[in-house]
Parts: sequence; C-alpha cells; structure tokens
Amino acid sequence: MQKERFFNILKRGCRKMERAKVSLVKFNDDRRNIRRAVEMCDGFKELTPSKRVLLKPNLVMWDEVLPFPKFGVITTAVVVEEMVRLLQEHGCSDIAIGEATTEDESINSETEAAYRGMGFQQLEKKYGVKLLDLNRGPFERVEFDGFSLDIAAPVLEADFLINLPVLKTHNTTRVSLGFKNLKGCLSRRSKIFCHHPELPLDRFIQRLGEKLAPALTLIDGIYALDRGPAMNGTAHRADILIASRDMFAADVVGTMILGMNPADIGHLAEHARRHGLPLDGSNVEICGEELSSLVRPLKWDWGWLEDNSGPTAFGRMGISGVYYPKYDHTICSGCSFLNNMILILLIGAYTGEPFDSIEFLTGKVARSRGGYKKTFLFGNCIIRANRDNPAIGEAVEIRGCPPRAEDIVRTLNEHGIRADFNTYLQYRESLAARYRDQPQFREEHFVVGEA
Ligand code: SF4
Repeated sequence: MQKERFFNILKRGCRKMERAKVSLVKFNDDRRNIRRAVEMCDGFKELTPSKRVLLKPNLVMWDEVLPFPKFGVITTAVVVEEMVRLLQEHGCSDIAIGEATTEDESINSETEAAYRGMGFQQLEKKYGVKLLDLNRGPFERVEFDGFSLDIAAPVLEADFLINLPVLKTHNTTRVSLGFKNLKGCLSRRSKIFCHHPELPLDRFIQRLGEKLAPALTLIDGIYALDRGPAMNGTAHRADILIASRDMFAADVVGTMILGMNPADIGHLAEHARRHGLPLDGSNVEICGEELSSLVRPLKWDWGWLEDNSGPTAFGRMGISGVYYPKYDHTICSGCSFLNNMILILLIGAYTGEPFDSIEFLTGKVARSRGGYKKTFLFGNCIIRANRDNPAIGEAVEIRGCPPRAEDIVRTLNEHGIRADFNTYLQYRESLAARYRDQPQFREEHFVVGEA
C-alpha cells in the first residue's frame, strides 16, 4: 500500500487544495484533550447556540445479564459526557442523544438499559439532554438511487449531527467508524434490508453517510477493537481521539490508524468515487499527533478452514463431522451475535468423537449442497432460502428473527448435540476476565461522572 506516499502528502502542507482538517489527539485520561480534539478541527465552527444538536454514539449492543466487556465495542461515556459539556458551554440548550441497540429481551439489551447502565440519566438531569431510543421511531422514508430506507426522524431533523463512533474493525465492512455508525439511525427493517442478498452492504452505508453528513465526527479511540465489532474481538487501549468536520476524512485517518488501506474499504472507496476524492489522504490536514506514530495494525477478519467447514479453531481442536461455512454479508447483527454463541456451544459439545454429519447455514442466501444427515437452518431467512431444497437430508429449523438463545440450546440438544449454555456463560466470563487486573482498561470510562 502507498503508506509512505500517504505520510509524505500529509507532511507537505496545504499548498494546493483546501484540505479537511483532522485532529489527532492523545486522550491520556485527561478530558481537556477531548476539547482540544474538537477545537483543533474547528469542530463547532458552524454551530450556533440555537441549533438542535443530536449526538449519535455507538451503543450497538448492551447486556444486563451476561458479562459484557465494553472496551472498543461501544463509545465511552467520557466522550459523550464531555461533548455534552462542551456543547452546553458553547450555549447549546437543545441537545439530544440518539441510539438504537440490537434488542434481545432475554438480556435486557434495549437502548434504555444502555442509557441507564452508562448513567446517561445524569446528563438528562444536569444538562437537560433528551435521551432518544431510535428503535422506537418515528421514521421517515428516504429515497436513494434505487432503494429507500427508513431513517429516525430526530436524526433528520437535527441541525447539527455529531457522530461518535468507536475506533474498531468490523468482520464484514473491515472498519466500523463514522459511516458505519450511522446505520444505527435506521429502522430495524431497514437495517435488515441493508444486508441485501444482491446489493453490497457498503453501498447502503455510503449512501446513508452521504445523506446524513454529520457536522462533526469524533472517533472515540480510547479503546480500539481487533476483529470487531462485538465483544469477542480483542480490545486495546489506544488512547486516540480523531475529530473532523469531514466524516470521510476522519474515517480515512481512522482506517490508516487501524493499519488498513482506505481504498480497501468498500464504502470509503464508493464515497471517493462519487465525490472525486482521493483515498490516499491528500485532502487531509492532520493537526496534533503524527499519524505514523499512532498506526497500530489490527485484524478485521476471522480465520476459517480452507474447505470452509468451520472456524480455524475447529481445525486446531480436531473437530470434524460438521460443516459450518463462514457467515456472509447478508447476516445481520441479531443473528451474527448468536452465530458466535452456536460456535462456542459446538466447541463445548465436542467430545473428541466426530459430529454425526451435520451442517449449519446462516444469513439469507446460502443453499445446502447436500451430503449431510442434518442441516440446521439458523433464522427465518435461511429457512426461507432453503425451503423445499431437495439436497437437504433432514432440515432442522431454528426459527426466529433472530432465534432465541434458549431455542438454539434446546434444538441442538433435541438433535443429539450436547449443548450446555454454561459453556457459553464461561466463555463470556473469560472475555470479561481478559481485561480484569489491567489498569489501562477502566470500567469507569463507561459511566457518566466516574472517570
Ligand atoms: S433471521 Fe437473522 S439474518 Fe434474517 S433478518 Fe432476522 S436477524 Fe437478519
């Protein structure tokens, strides 16, 4: 990749064209650095006190029941709180926070639970901030070229949208930064629609970002996530704040910091093509830290066996008798989170003997080629896609959109696979344990007023 060229261009200065300012600031547990990040990119240049401001953090998931390490998965409360404080200081009084978590009633994952868990009610009391659950709508249908999406009305009505994504990788779109975070502004139906069988997910993400065009993007890189976007990835303390009035520029820099080439990110490449923008950073003016000193390459993809029969962990453990092809872009968040759970349950159920010729299909389009005694169809979409598929020996349907965890465990057991939910509990506990006794991972970053 043209990394050197990228850095050289950044060093050359702003001689030829108007470039997008991106501030790069270390956080170092000092809230004043959040202010610096905003000020250095002139973040509030277009903000007058009378404007309606909406903050869109990334609270993609929440879990009140099982251990839930939040590092690199969701936006910190520190960043949200400090942004609210800066806005208030600027004279703004109409401030809202809007987000829509992936809902699963068995773990109390609704947006209100996330707001409660992060102490956002204090922002409501202290600054009069409105807490909006974008899952509840209302939505407005917006037409794009060839499709339409339902976007939360409060986001469309805001005069000044502040995007607060996390510095993280994504197992499908490679990065989940400013553009990707805006997908949380869609109705559930439209989110599902974006995982389209024929159209690329990146196209929807780009069009949505183009439409919403946040006035300010601040990428919260206090923690960065390897193999995101969920908690099964590995978080690192990165301590970076990336801010810009230009979301594309912020995402280009964030992508570089994650050690990837912006040209390889579908939605960034699409945006560059549609707007005649360079992907090599030549339209970016960095203020603050030297970008090259902050680059920390992270992985975005999960390894799968060459014959596509399962994750590489299956190979390492000698697991056989099962065909579990890799997820594709049509699997949406609800099924995706549970997909990880099924894999853990299968690993836990492995006794050393091969499984009895079983196949698992997920997403919306995969079709069984046959050759297995039982084909487990996970979720309503894949059940539909394989209805009347003559290649299937015995179809085992796990219904739901997404299916419920208890139904998954029960169905596996009914079909001779000794799945024990405790295995998954232990796994979740082990994920949380990774960060315990490591002082750089601070839970209080996720609670208002505590850090
Ligand atoms: S069944 Fe799964 S893949 Fe299909 S729409 Fe529901 S969550 Fe998405």
